Amino acid sequence: MTSPPNFDGPRRGRSAGRAAGKADVFVLSCIDYRLVDDVTAYLTQRGLDERYSEVRIAGGGLAAVDGTRPSWVSAVWENLALSRQIHGVRRLLVINHRDCSAVAHRFGRAAVADPDAEFRLHVRICQEVVDEAMRRDPTLEVECGFMELDGRVQRIVTQPPRAGAMSSPLAAPDRRAAFTERVRARLSGRPIDRAAQFDLLQLGVTEHGLAAAEADAVLRSTVAESDGRLGRDTELAVESFLGARAGRRRRVSQSDFEAAARLLRMGNEDGIDGIAARRRVKAIMARQGMRPRPVLWPPFSRRWYNEI
Ligand SMILES: [Zn+2]
Repeated sequence: MTSPPNFDGPRRGRSAGRAAGKADVFVLSCIDYRLVDDVTAYLTQRGLDERYSEVRIAGGGLAAVDGTRPSWVSAVWENLALSRQIHGVRRLLVINHRDCSAVAHRFGRAAVADPDAEFRLHVRICQEVVDEAMRRDPTLEVECGFMELDGRVQRIVTQPPRAGAMSSPLAAPDRRAAFTERVRARLSGRPIDRAAQFDLLQLGVTEHGLAAAEADAVLRSTVAESDGRLGRDTELAVESFLGARAGRRRRVSQSDFEAAARLLRMGNEDGIDGIAARRRVKAIMARQGMRPRPVLWPPFSRRWYNEI
């Protein structure tokens, strides 16, 4: 007499004998044991049960772009390509997470010690995944999320939508207006460096419901109308020049001030005039808590500065 084979695990009627069908989503997440069930629960909550295929690999999205691990990179993209072919996958969903050991191992503990810096690092990683996906297959839709240790997920990056997607109902004018206000507020008095750009873009997507390309467009046009420039390396260079010259007492001489204004004009592609450049330098000094050094004659006068 033969006994039936022993199976572990529940037998789910709806799965029994089901023919291989379609999965539209390919999930890329990390192997962290603390979040394995949370990732599954999240996908269920999104209504994706039995609609996704999945790769779990240390670092999640990082594994898709980590140049130090080429075998991982190809494993991810080759699995995705195969799943696209046999399951009809159209969308890549990346789920990175807080306190990821793989990311800490790759970039160092210090890079993720601060929660905000850690988040920004993941935004950058996800942006790279999006770029890489676009390079490999522009028809793939990509979405990246960042999971907290309690299982909550923030959507952090989506790829620029294809033509037509800009008119999605999410991109309502009032959302654009609200995001524009936010960018204006952030612009007042501070240069926008790369990290700040990422922060703003991410807010535009996650909090204002804009498509990434639309948030980017708002960001650029708002910066342009505020007489600023994205990636203001020049302004940052001027800042560090002034910082180096001002010394501990934070005093800037008239000649250093003029040199800073020239530097700003040279590096400014928008072609600002001397007066605007001086005003910009003055604003930088105010931000940095720097003050003008009085000239020798007229005695102790800061008129050269006050009149700008
Ligand atoms: Zn991890």
